[in-house]
Amino acid sequence: MQRIALASRPKGWPTADNFRLEQGEIPSPGPGRFVARTIWLSLDPYMRGRMDDGPSYAKPVEIGGTMEGGTVSEVVESNHPDYKPGDIVVGRMGWATHGVSDGEGMRKVDPSIAPISTALGVLGMPGQTAYVGLNRILEGKSGETICVSAASGAVGAVVTQLAKIKGMTVVGVAGGADKCAYVVEELGADACIDHRSVEDGKQMAEKMAQAAPGGFDCYFENVAGKTLLGVLPNMKPFGRIAICGMISLYSGNTMGDQNQLPLLWRTLLVKKLRAQGFIVSDHMDLMKPFLAEVGPLVKSGRVKFRETVTDGLENAPEAFLGLLRGENFGKQLVRVGAD
Ligand code: NDP
Repeated sequence: MQRIALASRPKGWPTADNFRLEQGEIPSPGPGRFVARTIWLSLDPYMRGRMDDGPSYAKPVEIGGTMEGGTVSEVVESNHPDYKPGDIVVGRMGWATHGVSDGEGMRKVDPSIAPISTALGVLGMPGQTAYVGLNRILEGKSGETICVSAASGAVGAVVTQLAKIKGMTVVGVAGGADKCAYVVEELGADACIDHRSVEDGKQMAEKMAQAAPGGFDCYFENVAGKTLLGVLPNMKPFGRIAICGMISLYSGNTMGDQNQLPLLWRTLLVKKLRAQGFIVSDHMDLMKPFLAEVGPLVKSGRVKFRETVTDGLENAPEAFLGLLRGENFGKQLVRVGAD
């Protein structure tokens, strides 16, 4: 088997040298466990945080440890009563061609609903994140206006589409003309701002004011940086912000030399805003309602999804570095084995 280990901790932007490809024996299952071969590996922004050893909501990957990650796999050998060879399972087997599991945190995937890769995207953790943030944290309602950052990405694309289905007005923010065209034409957003065409928070605020003259009731935060600086003056009184991620800050400060804390704090006060961070794994009670509601929407084609596929486990590090630079267009996956 092959696995990708964390070779060293990055300082600022990660590089290919922070990863190491290693060979080993395919494990045997042992009592009550099964062995599965990886078909799809998910690459996600949170993995950047796992490469650091600072305080966070989850433990870092150890140096020499296998990089963590969500996987869709096929059971190949089993001593587990609930899993048999041929079953397709979604879980967290990491950046590796094979893994062993006792079933904890594993779920069988129903291939009749949608392609099995969607269990890592629109019908997996990113889709559920969108569902939790929009419904439980923001409590988005028909008639309201929402701004969605990283709107063409795995999470943002689902937020955009579910918000439209609710009857909200959606202003997306994405990097580049192609992504913006997709956000409006395919995902149904009312407008999309290309953050690469905007120099700073002031220009972003102007573009947002043009796109949503009445301001935003809700902001789904995925990126921070100049997008956040543009959103703040455009929030309506009593607006709500769901802090889901801040990818532009994961490898360094992108918010300029000026201390932005006074501006942020004052805006929260004078606009009487509610800003709440959330981590999807604290909301697993919404997994069933999410799949029951969004599964049929994906099956019928009403909710669309887009994937960027990289072939081969050995290419996962480069694909991950590309994700951090915004080179993915939709959910970033690695095809590790044949499906
Ligand atoms: P995406 O599929 O959206 O991929 C990341 C995207 O971020 C890139 O394609 C790029 O899109 C955008 N991006 C990268 N750098 C910048 C930058 N400097 N400024 C603005 N945009 C940038 O990833 P996900 O949908 O998987 O994740 C989106 C966010 O949600 C991340 O912040 C992630 O950490 C967070 N998250 C949080 C969870 C939680 O439980 N709280 C769970 C899952 C995800 P573009 O080209 O449009 O800029």
